[in-house]
Amino acid sequence: RAKESGRNTYQFFTPDMNIRAARHLLQQEELARALEEESFLLHYQPKFDLASENVVGVEALLRWQHPEKGVLPAQQFIDLADETGLIVRLGELALRQACIQIQALERAGFRDLKMAVNLSARQVLDPGFLDMLRQVITETGVLPEVLELEMPVALLNEDPQLLHTLLEPLNDLGICLLLDDFGAGAWSLAALQQLPFNVIKVDQRLIRDVPYSASVTDVASAVIALAQKLHLTVVAEGIETPHQLSFLKAAGCTQGQGNLFSYPLDEDALIGFLVRQHERSLIS
Ligand code: C2E
Ligand code: MG
Ligand code: MG
Ligand code: MG
Repeated sequence: RAKESGRNTYQFFTPDMNIRAARHLLQQEELARALEEESFLLHYQPKFDLASENVVGVEALLRWQHPEKGVLPAQQFIDLADETGLIVRLGELALRQACIQIQALERAGFRDLKMAVNLSARQVLDPGFLDMLRQVITETGVLPEVLELEMPVALLNEDPQLLHTLLEPLNDLGICLLLDDFGAGAWSLAALQQLPFNVIKVDQRLIRDVPYSASVTDVASAVIALAQKLHLTVVAEGIETPHQLSFLKAAGCTQGQGNLFSYPLDEDALIGFLVRQHERSLIS
């Protein structure tokens, strides 16, 4: 095609872009190798009931144990994993590990905690998704009611009939379905009303400037009110300041997580955190 449209087209392929394309390919290979070597792990960020400040669950967040760069957060590689399709295998790994971990916590005496796992649209729409999920549940023996699946809000723009077929069985199993990063991007309100989602998580970008910008505060309040009208539970992510926390509570958020409460923690740090929480709850 480049040839057809004439010589001028070549100017698009600057040396800079060739370098970028090459780097992309390298990262892709590196990621695929890391998957073979199972160099991934999960960190867990506690989720709180905002009224009591009790831990109600944790969200599993993927990390890449990189040989040179150390532990990389999902944000730095998840898009690439998604573009390349590697997310399907990587996501299964994460789901299985999360199911194993929540049962280990249960055995250690931390009861009634939920385990939230993130999914990309590509994973949910993958033809093998339902079978994979059922198999992981059977193999690990996890109770489906313990699981929360966090799905991107962009899913609402997919074919509603298809989504219904995909999500209804999950709902029947008793899995909690959550829409992640709600309020960012464009999505179909009609679909939101029709699909069996239970929870929305307000995008952290919506509360970033609370309380410094009145318009931001208004948008966040409106999004929360909308969700409440649709009988959805409202959770907040990325809570960093006491101001944001009190705003969210007043606006009707019932659960939340963020660096104000706890960073995402590795397995051992999570246990330590839960133990301290438990001791605190005994004192108060
Ligand atoms: P997310 O599900 O919206 O997760 C929240 C992100 O914000 C996480 O970044 C978390 O580490 C970070 N975060 C938590 N609290 C705060 C805070 O108070 N302030 C700020 N500024 N950030 C906070 P992370 O771990 O890099 O993950 C990025 C995204 O990657 C996630 O966004 C999620 O969409 C995706 N992801 C993570 N793990 C998985 C996975 O296992 N599978 C799939 N498909 N996606 C995943
Ligand atoms: Mg999430
Ligand atoms: Mg989120
Ligand atoms: Mg987010």
